[in-house]
Amino acid sequence: MNLKDFNSLNEAIDKKKPILVSACLVGIKCRYDETGCLVEELRDLTLQGQAIVVCPEVLAGLPTPRNPSEIVVVNDERKVYNDDKSEVTDSFALGAEITLGVARKSGAKIAILKSKSPSCGCGKVYDGSFTGKLVDGDGFTTAMLKENGLRVITEEDFRECLN
Ligand code: SF4
Repeated sequence: MNLKDFNSLNEAIDKKKPILVSACLVGIKCRYDETGCLVEELRDLTLQGQAIVVCPEVLAGLPTPRNPSEIVVVNDERKVYNDDKSEVTDSFALGAEITLGVARKSGAKIAILKSKSPSCGCGKVYDGSFTGKLVDGDGFTTAMLKENGLRVITEEDFRECLN
């Protein structure tokens, strides 16, 4: 997390501003394998009414459970494929657009999103080989939020701002 991200999150928390949060991080079982990824502090933020909870993939109408997906670069274009090789790029793009709409409506300027996901990942995502290898890059939703001026950090580095 860089200093600007740190300041933005600190300010949002202090001033009780809305913060976008990945739904799986507050314990909702919306991941591809129908599990959540609970982070207790983020669930508390939700219970306090400060977190705006979003799952871009569910918002796009994808089912739960669903096949795992990863981002692949084809002819310089980022696409998303399931592990059965079916393309789901349009759904991921739609989830990103809907999530941006939620951010705009809520007034959130910062998001805490699930690391490494093809939607929510920030800085690192899986490389498309379904072998657990990571490459530099953002998930589709994270990329769209950043392009529109939001700051995005992951569940791995928000804690210092909550103290
Ligand atoms: Fe969690 Fe984001 Fe995946 Fe939904 S799309 S399950 S919020 S990482």
